[in-house]
Amino acid sequence: MALTKDEAIALRRLDYSETSQVLVFLTREHGKVRAIAKGVKRGTKSRFAVGIDLLELGHVVVSARPGGGAELATVTEWKQVRSMAGLRQRLARMHAAEYAAEVTAALTEDWDPHPRVFAALVGLLDDLCQANQVFDRLVDFQRELLDEIGSLPEFAACLTCGRIPEPDEPVHFSSFEGGLLCRDCEPAHVEKRELLHGCLSILRGQPGHPTSQVAAFDILNYHIAHLMGRNPTTAPVLLATASPA
Ligand SMILES: [Zn+2]
Repeated sequence: MALTKDEAIALRRLDYSETSQVLVFLTREHGKVRAIAKGVKRGTKSRFAVGIDLLELGHVVVSARPGGGAELATVTEWKQVRSMAGLRQRLARMHAAEYAAEVTAALTEDWDPHPRVFAALVGLLDDLCQANQVFDRLVDFQRELLDEIGSLPEFAACLTCGRIPEPDEPVHFSSFEGGLLCRDCEPAHVEKRELLHGCLSILRGQPGHPTSQVAAFDILNYHIAHLMGRNPTTAPVLLATASPA
């Protein structure tokens, strides 16, 4: 049985039996890893006996059969590096972090390395620990995740005719088409969302007003939901806490 050592963040935690839980980690070099942690104390569902909290950064050692991607690995060691305690000081930070964990787990494959997504997630969690506004950082993370998995939409020009929309032109976004639709091409498409004013520049990676950041988050989440085949369960909770200054 080979041992795999890596930096990791626990994205999900599932009860497996009275004394065991299954963790879904994102690791820096090995991608998403599912592993069972044995010896959890009865009745303490909020914390592992071995001390693994959701969304904290740590060093993990798991045993896994070489090439046995579908097999559950076993956690043999966990050492916390950063607790990310700041997340727990504000509900919006925690909801934002839970959203990032959910979509990362849904859009990556087991043992498929994405070091850039890992670095982006650590950077996001570090920033969220001190953030007042969460949506600007979340949009950056959505863009990085989508870019890394090859699904970042095209926001420069209309996907149908190639025209670059006028600055104040109403534009739509189609998840199925994977990008912008100009006002001339939009009527021919059924699946689409209208972009609110100020949203497009943020989707292109530029700064913007907090209200527009929420709108940009919503558009990218619409696309992510399309890729996942369902709306992330954490998205409505997060949007409900949106309180732009
Ligand atoms: Zn067009």
